[in-house]
Formats: sequence, C-alpha cells, structure tokens
Amino acid sequence: MSTKPTSKPSPAVPGDIAETPDLQGAYPRLSDAEIAALTSQGDRRGTQQGEILFAEGERDCDFYVVLAGHMASVEGHGTHEERIISVHARGRFLGELSLLTGEGSFYTGLALDAGEVLAVSVARLRELIARDPAFGDLVLRAYLLRRSILIGLGVGLRVVGSRYSPDTRRVRDFAARNRIPVRWLDLESDPAAEAMLAQFGVTPDDTPIVIVYGRLLRNPGNAELAAAIGLPAPSAQQAGADMLVVGAGPAGLSAAVYAASEGMQVIVLDGVATGGQAGTSSRIENYLGFPAGISGAELADRAVLQAEKFGARFAVPAEATAIAQDSGYYRVQLADGTSLTSTSVVIATGARYRRLDVPRLDYFEKVSVYYAASQAEALMCHSDPVAIVGGGNSAGQAAIFLSAHATRITLIVREHDLSENMSRYLIDQVTRLPNVQVMLDSEVRELHGDQVLEAVTVADSSSGARRVLPARALFVFIGAVPCTDWLGGLVDLDDRGFVRTGAGALAAADGADRTLLLPLETNRPGVFAVGDVRSGSAKRVATAVGEGAMAIRLAFERTRPT
Ligand SMILES: Cc1cc2nc3c(=O)[nH]c(=O)nc-3n(C[C@H](O)[C@H](O)[C@H](O)COP(=O)(O)OP(=O)(O)OC[C@H]3O[C@@H](n4cnc5c(N)ncnc54)[C@H](O)[C@@H]3O)c2cc1C
Repeated sequence: MSTKPTSKPSPAVPGDIAETPDLQGAYPRLSDAEIAALTSQGDRRGTQQGEILFAEGERDCDFYVVLAGHMASVEGHGTHEERIISVHARGRFLGELSLLTGEGSFYTGLALDAGEVLAVSVARLRELIARDPAFGDLVLRAYLLRRSILIGLGVGLRVVGSRYSPDTRRVRDFAARNRIPVRWLDLESDPAAEAMLAQFGVTPDDTPIVIVYGRLLRNPGNAELAAAIGLPAPSAQQAGADMLVVGAGPAGLSAAVYAASEGMQVIVLDGVATGGQAGTSSRIENYLGFPAGISGAELADRAVLQAEKFGARFAVPAEATAIAQDSGYYRVQLADGTSLTSTSVVIATGARYRRLDVPRLDYFEKVSVYYAASQAEALMCHSDPVAIVGGGNSAGQAAIFLSAHATRITLIVREHDLSENMSRYLIDQVTRLPNVQVMLDSEVRELHGDQVLEAVTVADSSSGARRVLPARALFVFIGAVPCTDWLGGLVDLDDRGFVRTGAGALAAADGADRTLLLPLETNRPGVFAVGDVRSGSAKRVATAVGEGAMAIRLAFERTRPT
C-alpha cells in the first residue's frame, strides 16, 4: 500500500470544504451497499490531514474509496503552481485512467482533513472490473471522463516550446494522439514559458522541453517520452505470441479483444498511438450502439481497456519495419531493433493521409497544416479563419467540429457536388453552419506566409480563376494511402498497394495453400489483413471492427488440426 505521510501543508480550501459536483458521471458516489461489498476486497484505514495517498508520477497506486473526511486530487502539490482539481467525500473514489493503463499519476491524492479510506490494490480492482460489469462500467466511465477533464484543464505534462518549432508540434501531436494530458506553454506568447525555463535552468535553445512528473526532458523523441510516462515499451513484449496484431486502430483493437478473450497470447503494436484514424475523429456518429455518437478517442480507450482486461499486451510506439517467414513462424522487425515472432499475424496498419501537391507544403506541415481535427488542433486555430480541403465525410466532420472554434471556415472541394463523396446527414449539417463557406470545383494551388500560414490560393478547376483566401490553418482530408511499406514482398498487394485477401489473393498463393485460403487471409497462411489496409475494404469503423473479429475466428480455423 502506498502510504506516505507528508509534512507539506494541505492546499488552502475555503472554509467549509465543498465537494466537486459530479460532472456527467465523472465523480459518481458508491452507495453504502456497494461500499460494504467492496470492504472485503481492501483495507480500511484512517488518514491524517495533509497525508499523501499517492504522489504525482506514482504507478500502480491503490484504488481509494473515501469513507470519511475529504480527499482531493491536487496538481503540483507543494509547489507555487498547486491547484485543486477535485474534492471528494464519502462514497467517491479517487484516481483516473492512469491507474489502469500503467502511466504514472498526473496528480497527487491528498487527505484534506482527518478521515478514513478503503484501499484496494490495483490488481484486485482489475479483477473486480472484469467480474462485476455494473461496477466495471461505473469506474471505466468515470476514469475516461476524468481523463477528458484533465486534458481540458491542461493538467499533466508541461511542454515548453515555440509554435513555430516542428519538434514542439511533434511532441504535442504524440501526446494528443495518445490522449496524454498536457499543458503547452508557447514560447512566443506565454509569459509562464520564460518562468518555466528559468526554473529548470534552460534556455530557449533547449526547447522544446517536457516536464514529466517533475523531471526535465530536452526535446525527447517519442519513444523516450513514452517510456518516461509509462506507456508499454516493445522490449517488454519480446516473448513470442500466438497472435501478433500490427496496428491498433479499430480493426487491430477488435482483433486484440476477440483473440485475447478466446485465450490467445496476443501482442498489439502501434507505431504512433492506439485508436488509428478513428482516434483522431471528434465524433463518430454511425457506429452501432452510440445514438449520440462517440469520440474516436473514447472508443479507442474503451477498447484498449477491454483488450487488456482479457490479457492482450500493447506496445506503443512500436513501428513494424519488416516481416519475414521463419521456420513455421512469422518474424516482425520493429524500428527500435526488437523483433517479435508469432504463428499468426493480423495486418491492421490501415492507411495514412494523402498529401497535397503544392509548393512549400513540407515547411507548412510543420506549423500550420493538419491531418486531423481534434481538440488539440482546435486550440491552434482559435478565432482564426481556416481552410479545409476535401469533400468526404472526414472533411465534413472537421468543418462541423471546427465551426465552434474558428471564425470562418472555407471548405475547398474538388468535386462539383458535395453529395459525390459526403453522407447526406453531414451535408445537411455543414450547409446549415453560418460560418462555413463551401467552394465546389476548387483546388488549393499555393500556400502563403512567412513563419506560419497566412493565406491559400484556390483555383476554380473549370474557369481557372484564382482567389487568395486568408487562412491560419489548413486541414487536409483528401483520402489515404495504405501503410504497407513494411510488408516488403511477403504478401500480395493490389495495384494501389492494398493487401489482397481471400479469393483476391489466390493467384499469388502457393499451390499447396490455394485450396485452404480463407476469407481475410493473405496469400501467406496464417497472415490476415483487416480494415482499411485490405484491398476492397469499406473504410468504416464498423467494418474494420467486424473484420478484426472475423479474422480471429478464421485464425482459429487455420490453426485447428485437420
Ligand atoms: C477524421 C476521420 C473521421 C472519420 N470518421 C468516421 C466515421 O464517422 N465513421 C466511420 O465509420 N469511419 C470514419 N472514419 C474512417 C475510419 O476511422 C477508418 O475506416 C478506420 O479507422 C479504419 O480502421 P483500421 O484499424 O483499419 O485502420 P487505422 O484506423 O488507419 O489504424 C491503423 C493503425 O496502424 C498503425 N500503423 C500503421 N503502420 C504501422 C506500422 N508499420 N507499424 C505499427 N503500426 C502501424 C497506425 O499508427 C494506426 O494507428 C474517419 C476517419 C478519419 C481520418
């Protein structure tokens, strides 16, 4: 148990200690009956005023239920930046998502007055979540919401760097994709940035710097940052597996959940973050069972917890660079030099955004061009005019989401009619937005600006007429190319680079394998391809999820003795 009395004073709390209201289920209260049922699973103990229950950066802390008194989540405890995030009394429980993901805690758990807590070990908490669906759902929902609150409040890591710095952008993108709470101090405009540099004795030349649980990292690479936070490293996963899932978008996550729930030893790799393209979507409205829509990030977080519940192991960031057949196994090589072996492989590496063919794109990509429209990007274009390129559903969703943040949005569409590539429900919403202007038959030809983007030149494809539009950010959603470079020549690809499966892969299969080739199976027995990376796939979350599940069923069939 992690009990560490402290001599530091408790943060100032106004007269009567007020509890934080329950924000849409983020801070639910357990009933007396629920507390009684939990009591046999942990230890009851008294707390003193100012006692630290768990400290910032601590991992595998206990799960605390407040029985008496007031406990708080406090950022920067003992520093001049100290702030109370939330206060809880009897029946509330402490912690957030990091308790289950293995990341260090992003704040300190503190007793504000003398009281009592029930401390349950995290291992026992996992068992309870798996065993009791009602309790599990209550805790998971609260923890996911608390993570969103932390991200919104900017509690967590500190990133100090310039808005013009490509590495600052990389670090922020990596944190955003992995849903790690971050507060960014812009060297160009935030006076607190200077103070932070002085506090750590570094200069602007050392930026970006990242403060992780009080520790200074100078321009860390993604792997270094992941290790400091406690994301699972590939080296910890070196043992072989029954199933290697490469790519942790919806297709890979689904394969992981089903494989692990069927008792397979599963390792899931992703080069960037769990969630894939869907993780960058602010709201997925057509996924079964979520009538009000669900953010891609929440869907991904839920799936990761579900897969881990069944025993799947994740490695992030872990980019596959090659695959080879090796005496009855497949060996996947990773960018960090590690290699993993498995009898079956699910290729779920999806697709990555297509780039515009315009001069100076390379430069502007580092500062003003975006391929996703989530909260992190929205912060960058607050009150600015922005341009979105694309006429499909991703572009439509981005226009709707960004319309709440940007003053003016121009949607630049190459097609003659929005209905060529966009779903009707999105067209209806986009065309009703007062601050969104749609330009059909149009293409971006030039980008203008010194340090950051200031305007774009748009050409009318029929008349050739050109217009210069002010734009501080450019969002590009013009389709995607498959992530199949790492496959070398091992599996058969179609002429656009997507992986052929089933009947489509027959021609490339060895004679002996041809009669047995299963749907979703590549020309290599035991290697399956699912989701957007697959030739002929539907490019939707629901189909990617369906294919991930189906591949596992087929993998069992493949390995079943005949
Ligand atoms: C902004 C946006 C909004 C969308 N909205 C919707 C929607 O509302 N409804 C809907 O049905 N669909 C939507 N889509 C499409 C949907 O997200 C995709 O169809 C779906 O994510 C495909 O899932 P996937 O798992 O096949 O691939 P992806 O989601 O592309 O995931 C692939 C994963 O593989 C990883 N990867 C790639 N290469 C490697 C490598 N070499 N090594 C390790 N990992 C690797 C990537 O980092 C990525 O995480 C949207 C897409 C976008 C971009």
